[in-house]
Amino acid sequence: MASWLEIFVLRVFRTLRRLPFMRLLRFGTSGGMFLDYFKGFEKSSAVQGIFGDETEKVLRNLKVGFIWFGYMGVDDDDGHMVVNQRYLNTGDKTEIYLDVVHELCHVKQHMEGRELFDPNYNYVNNPTEVEAYRYTVKEAKRLGLSDKRILRYLQTEWMSDADLKRLVENIGIDLRSAEN
Ligand SMILES: [Zn+2]
Repeated sequence: MASWLEIFVLRVFRTLRRLPFMRLLRFGTSGGMFLDYFKGFEKSSAVQGIFGDETEKVLRNLKVGFIWFGYMGVDDDDGHMVVNQRYLNTGDKTEIYLDVVHELCHVKQHMEGRELFDPNYNYVNNPTEVEAYRYTVKEAKRLGLSDKRILRYLQTEWMSDADLKRLVENIGIDLRSAEN
């Protein structure tokens, strides 16, 4: 049975959830199941391409935790996804979709026992990152995004032009039409 405190907290959060400007308060206080927040992803051909026959099972068991900063990631302890809820609420929908595909690549890598944050590599050379980006760029092309748009997506605010160039080289997918 829930204690009065839990009931009180639940009630407070339920009330706050209705106020858009208070959404920040949900960070770090809650988490949930992936499919409750990302409905229909089990039907995405890109996601099915990652997990194959296991897609529904993996997504049904995947947990999501909320973070206060950044965009999204995968916790390398137990492989659950972490998401900045403010990004979910305010970010570009196509970019959010691509980010989810990218993170699900990491979920799969974690399931395979691979090291997600190998300190021997910097971000744009890390094999797990390059693989996740390659898969995501392929999906972006399939969706019809222009090369220019894809490059804009790839360059996060903490990535230098040189790093972006390196990442694109590592991905190995032709994005040269963006230069014209
Ligand atoms: Zn990544």
